[in-house]
Parts: sequence; C-alpha cells; structure tokens
Amino acid sequence: MRLSRYFLPVLKETPAEAQIVSHRYMLRAGMIKQASAGIYSWLPMGFKVLRKIENIIHEEQQRAGHIPMLMPTIQSADLWRESGRYDAYGAEMLRITDRHDREMLFTPTAEELITDIFRANVSSYRDLPLTMYQIQWKFRDEIRPRFGVMRGREFLMKDGYNFDLTKEDALHAYNRHLVSYLRTYERMGLQAIPMRADSGPIGGDDTHEFLVLAETGESEVFYDSQITDLKFGDREIDYDSREQCQAVLEEFTSRYARTDETHDEAVFNQVPEERRRVARGIEVGQIFYFGTKYSEPLGATVADADGNQVPVHMGSHGIGVSRLLGAIIEASHDDKGIIWPEGVTPFHCGIVNLKTGDAEADAACEKIHAALIALGLDPLYDDTTERAGAKFATMDLIGLPWRITVGPRGLKNGVVELTSRRTGESEEMPPEAAVAKIA
Ligand code: ATP
Ligand code: MG
Ligand code: MG
Ligand code: MG
Repeated sequence: MRLSRYFLPVLKETPAEAQIVSHRYMLRAGMIKQASAGIYSWLPMGFKVLRKIENIIHEEQQRAGHIPMLMPTIQSADLWRESGRYDAYGAEMLRITDRHDREMLFTPTAEELITDIFRANVSSYRDLPLTMYQIQWKFRDEIRPRFGVMRGREFLMKDGYNFDLTKEDALHAYNRHLVSYLRTYERMGLQAIPMRADSGPIGGDDTHEFLVLAETGESEVFYDSQITDLKFGDREIDYDSREQCQAVLEEFTSRYARTDETHDEAVFNQVPEERRRVARGIEVGQIFYFGTKYSEPLGATVADADGNQVPVHMGSHGIGVSRLLGAIIEASHDDKGIIWPEGVTPFHCGIVNLKTGDAEADAACEKIHAALIALGLDPLYDDTTERAGAKFATMDLIGLPWRITVGPRGLKNGVVELTSRRTGESEEMPPEAAVAKIA
C-alpha cells in the first residue's frame, strides 16, 4: 500500500477528550472516529486491525470445533419476554418500536435467539454436543461510554453458545472455551488471566473473566503473582479430550485470581504475602456455564437415550473484539505511539523514502515494496513528500513492527536501514537482507 493513496488521517494534536493512552493513539493514528457517544466509525487502519483480531478468533474457535454463524442485530422483544430478561435487562437495552408498533431491540447478547434456533431444529441427544458462535455488533446503552472502544455503546463481540445433554458435557465445552481463549489472546501478544467472576445479567454458577492487567483497567483484581508465569504457548491440545482440557483449566485457575466482585479477603490472605497482588485489569472476555437457565423457560429440550424430554445444558462465551484493540494498545505502547504485536499489526512493515522524487531512492523503495508483497507480506510505503522527521513520527505512532528507511546516502553504499519498533534498534544492510529479515 502506498501511503499517498491510503486514508490515514493522522492527528498532530492530542485530542482533549481522550483520557487514556489507547484512546489517544487510536484517534491520533486515524483508526477510529467517533460518530456519537460510544459509537465509532472504523477508519481503514482501525478496520484492518479489527479484521485481524476477528480472524484469529475465527481460527481458534474453529480449531476447537465451534461452528461460525450469524444472527441479526435487531431482535423481537417477544423472545426476551419468554426468558424473562426483557424487563430484567434494564436501561442498558436499546428498545426500538417499528412502524407496526412491534417492540424490537438491538441485541446486547444473544442467548434467547440462539436458543430459539436450537429448539426449532434439534430434538435428539444424538445431535449434541453443539457449539455455535458469531462475531456480531452488539449495543448496550452504557451509562458512561468512555475510553474510546473500551466501553462503547455499539461494540463488536464474539459470542458463542454450547448445547449439551449433561452438565459434564457442558463443563467440557466450558473448558474448551477456556483453552481456546488462552490461545486466542496469546496470539494477539496479550496475557489475559482467567479470574473467577460474577455472572451478572447472563446468570449461572460457573464463570471466569479474562483480564489483561493495565493501570487503566476498570476492574480491580486480586491475584497470586505466580499466575503471571503461566503461558499456554504452542503446546498441542486435543479439544475432544476431557482430561486435557480439564488439566488446562486446573493449571490456569488453581491460583488465587479474582475480580472485586468475588474477592474474598480471608482466602486471599492464605497466599504468601510476597505473592499477593492488587492491581487493575481490562475484561476482554468471559465464559459462563448456566445449565438450564434459558433452555427451561424457552423449552429447548431433546429426547435422551431413554426417550425422555430433557432441557439442554448451556453456556455462553464472549470476547470483546473491539475492546481488544484498546487492550492491546494499553499493553503495548511507548511515549511515541503504538507497538503492534506481530499477530495483529495492520501492516507488517513501513517503508520510509527519505527523498521522494530522487530516482534512485524511488526505484529502491518500489523494489522493496514489490519484494515484500511477493512474499505475501503487507507493507505500507510512505511515498509522500513529507519531511523525514514527520514520516518517522507517523511510523512510530502507527507502530508497525519494522521500518525500512531508504535514502540516497545509504544507497550509495548499497544499504538501507532496518529498525525494530519494539527495541528501537537499527541496522544497516542491503535491501534484500532487510526484506529477508522481515519475512
Ligand atoms: P463490562 O463488565 O466491561 O461491562 P460485561 O461483563 O458487561 O463487560 P459481557 O456480557 O461479559 O460484558 O460481554 C463479553 C465481552 O464483551 C466482555 O468481556 C467485554 O470484553 C466486551 N464488552 C462488554 N461491554 C462492552 C462495551 N460496552 N464496549 C466494548 N466491549 C464490551
Ligand atoms: Mg457491562
Ligand atoms: Mg463484566
Ligand atoms: Mg463480563
């Protein structure tokens, strides 16, 4: 991509309304623009990162055996009356009346609708287990939308739902989600710690939230510092194996880690004092097992092996897809801008032409640009006539992992400069070597 043909409306000034670093950088890097309170347009570079995050989630969900689908954003109030949540949900639900005076709503979550799909189509235990998920826009009329995409009113969520015959089967689905979420967040360069949480309006007994530690997080968290040493890494996992999934759950939840909602001072005090941590975190996901909370009122039953009609055991599992952009930036930045982890970076590499218009520099940049594309990479070539200082500032702000700097002086010696955004280290080398190092 040539910057001269792209749409990257970088802001020089720090927007006054942005209180936290991720919000500031997302605005300054031209990733989002507020349309109204808590509602954003996703400008090309923000949209690119959003898509990368979605792709990782799709890959990891499907690896775990979960099936993608899509449900509408606007739903009828009727189903929500059947479950009893239409009144219970309160002011966070955006209620809409259509021209025929039918009561509709913008989905804040989708347990009711998926259960309706299930009950209309599944009648035998033989069709279980079943887990389906979607990545779809949600709306919650948050009382205080703030921090940009962190607490939006319209936001993108991955929500998955499992249907199982027994509690044990549903707990296996719960564990599968826990494992797949660990993998998902790690691929985004994040450490998200599963913490015992409160179930809120979703309901249920078993629930963990995934928290990214950050000073700007809205949740207070209490944990045993040993938990931050745990990594899922690239270990193999058989998602059909109950033992393997259960073992991961035990490993990642056996140390004290709770949010303020479930924090228990007496239990926390049993952790050796030097390992006790009180900090703040950003909730980037939550998994729930809630049994028959929706299947009973909505009549989602199947015939079991003896022919008895039994309500299915369910759970739901959410990831804050758009919030993740904010969480990743909170976890990975410096005073010059964003530092994208490789897994979600909008472009793999920036190419800075120090002297656009110089025939040799132009030709060398074009060659590097083409070589990176030929390798399947996605470079951003700054071919504008801005001065070098401004080009560097933009590259630092948008935080691509690598920058190749090309100028007439280096080219005389046959070299360009390759700079790592994370370490700030630069090295001179021939253009081909720089391309090879990035690939
Ligand atoms: P919070 O405690 O932050 O209000 P929640 O517990 O109400 O979130 P869930 O119902 O668990 O949210 O939804 C699943 C995920 O969706 C959350 O873990 C979070 O990452 C994301 N999410 C929830 N509300 C918002 C929001 N207003 N803006 C952006 N992401 C959100
Ligand atoms: Mg909420
Ligand atoms: Mg919450
Ligand atoms: Mg939650």
